[in-house]
Amino acid sequence: MGADIRPGRPAPRRLLPRGLDLGRPAPPKAWLWQVRRLILGAAKGPAALVIVLIPALCLALLLAGCRDDSPVYNTRFLAFGTLMDLSIVGVGREEAERASQLLDQEFQFMHQAWHAWDPGPMGRVNTLLATGKPFAAPPCILPLVRQSQELATRSDNLFNPAIGHLVDLWGFHADAPERRAPPDKARIDALVRANPLMSDIEVDGILLRGKNPAVKLDFGAIGKGYGIDLAIAHLRELGIHHAIVNAGGDLRAIGNRDGQPWRIAVRSPGGGGVLAILQVSGDESIFTSGDYERNFTHEGKNYHHVIDPRTGWPAEGAHSVTVIHGDATTADAAATALLVAGPARWPEIAQAMGIRSVLLIDQAGRYHMDPSMAARLESVARHPEIIISPPLAGDTAGRQAGS
Ligand code: ADP
Ligand code: MG
Repeated sequence: MGADIRPGRPAPRRLLPRGLDLGRPAPPKAWLWQVRRLILGAAKGPAALVIVLIPALCLALLLAGCRDDSPVYNTRFLAFGTLMDLSIVGVGREEAERASQLLDQEFQFMHQAWHAWDPGPMGRVNTLLATGKPFAAPPCILPLVRQSQELATRSDNLFNPAIGHLVDLWGFHADAPERRAPPDKARIDALVRANPLMSDIEVDGILLRGKNPAVKLDFGAIGKGYGIDLAIAHLRELGIHHAIVNAGGDLRAIGNRDGQPWRIAVRSPGGGGVLAILQVSGDESIFTSGDYERNFTHEGKNYHHVIDPRTGWPAEGAHSVTVIHGDATTADAAATALLVAGPARWPEIAQAMGIRSVLLIDQAGRYHMDPSMAARLESVARHPEIIISPPLAGDTAGRQAGS
């Protein structure tokens, strides 16, 4: 979850989705513009106006008649500090609109409930965890604690949502990065030594108890994925089985696009064009973490928002990581964990997390990927060195988790 988006807040940084459905028809406006230019070339003054208006009107009516031939209902709203794109196929327009409105409301609620620095349930939970006394967990927080504990263990704690104090110290608990220089090294080291872990939270039914006062929860690396999984579950309950829920490029796609696979554009890190196309049908999530999302530069060095819990400093070695997996929760946590793992350790951690396919772009611009990812990327943009790892055994586990 990046910056908060509400009236009066700064605009989102990531305005263009990194991944998107490529099957949309071209907008009709360009045609109208061409016709207008052609006709204006042949006449001037009021005559031109009449000549332009009448055919333009006819054309507009004609186009309005064919406007609904796309099988996909597309809508977009702001949530989790980014643009949410929703594509729905196979139900009537009214049903799709109702579903979209519902999801919009739910995402606003989730964003508020899991917000790492605005007042709300997360703030209360963090205050109570620090007391060391048991307390009843808010229902919106408990499942995230449970899932995060499991994913943290499987990632060897490289995905570690207990490091909220570190993220805060680096100035990323704010709508825009607050720092212009790294924090004091002694303060970073003290937080690393305190070693906050998800396993420091005791869960007993609905009761939570903090066993390490250094724990501060921050679900920024998993909340979007978990929210997308809830949204997909909700769409299915509403009888919608073909859809994409896309949060600024991190997405889960189910079913297909009117009998054809969904075609997803994977954007290059930092938003510089399309890196490759992925075809998706069935049920898959595609998530990316990168060192370019929320960051600041100091003396020519980039300091970004994904912190290596072992050092307390922003993760080094990887520029971006894209993972494909069944459920979005695991995909989100894994993309963050593998960015921390870097070029040396990503296959081991991906394996342990049961991840199906990975693409890691290192800081030298080399592409590291497993064979299943290599087989699926349709056209890797003119590119440099590609290093293929041995196959990931997580393939089967991933399919089970997502089905
Ligand atoms: P994005 O939100 O841009 O998709 P991520 O999913 O990688 O990116 O989440 C990054 C966010 O997760 C950070 O802003 C911070 O709130 C939190 N975070 C940073 N480092 C870690 C980490 N090692 N483990 C878990 N959460 C982290
Ligand atoms: Mg993540």
